[in-house]
Amino acid sequence: MRILVVEDERKAGDYLKQGLTEASFLVDLARTGVDGVHLATTEAYDLVILDVMLPGLDGWDVLRAIRGTGHTMPVLFLTARAQVDDRVKGLELGADDYLVKPYAFSELLARVRTLLRRGRTIEPEVLRTADIELDLLHRRVTRCGKRIDLTAKEFALLELLLRRHHHEVLPRSLIASQVWDMNFDSDTNVIDVAVRRLRAKIDDGFEPKLIHTVRGMGYVLEARESA
Ligand code: CA
Repeated sequence: MRILVVEDERKAGDYLKQGLTEASFLVDLARTGVDGVHLATTEAYDLVILDVMLPGLDGWDVLRAIRGTGHTMPVLFLTARAQVDDRVKGLELGADDYLVKPYAFSELLARVRTLLRRGRTIEPEVLRTADIELDLLHRRVTRCGKRIDLTAKEFALLELLLRRHHHEVLPRSLIASQVWDMNFDSDTNVIDVAVRRLRAKIDDGFEPKLIHTVRGMGYVLEARESA
């Protein structure tokens, strides 16, 4: 998931970039509205975090430019002024949510995750690897054309596994934060149990096997014939 942060205050921008990077997002930081517009309209982002008070092109100009060029990714704007006017204006211009500065990072992270979940309907609707298909729009999973019933958590877990590029290992910490909104320090046994259940539904009775444990690291989804 790629996020663009547009924030001119150096400390605030660095802090946001660091926090979001630690939360496993890919983050680009633009320090001016002009750079923000350029990046938002030439690169592919899943979400934009936009400070309203920017020198030169302000946040409203940036938002207008993004929407004016047909980009539909969610935009979360940050406003220092706790004024109703600002919120209304931002939402009217096509922003999806806002936070009033100063905000708690945990609050920002929660909003970001909610927006990203909501924004997914405009992405490719079906994720595939080997003979498994996950239909995001209809929330349906099939393997070899056979319907597989999953719980909401299992679905989210499988979606996360299918979204890993080049069959990268999915760390348990990322599963914890994305599927359960919890820290890695929490009871990770929950994750292992959920993966075991998912694996039973996805892999039992099928070849090749798709979900594999990478000891000490996490899980990976790729086609492997069982030994
Ligand atoms: Ca600012």
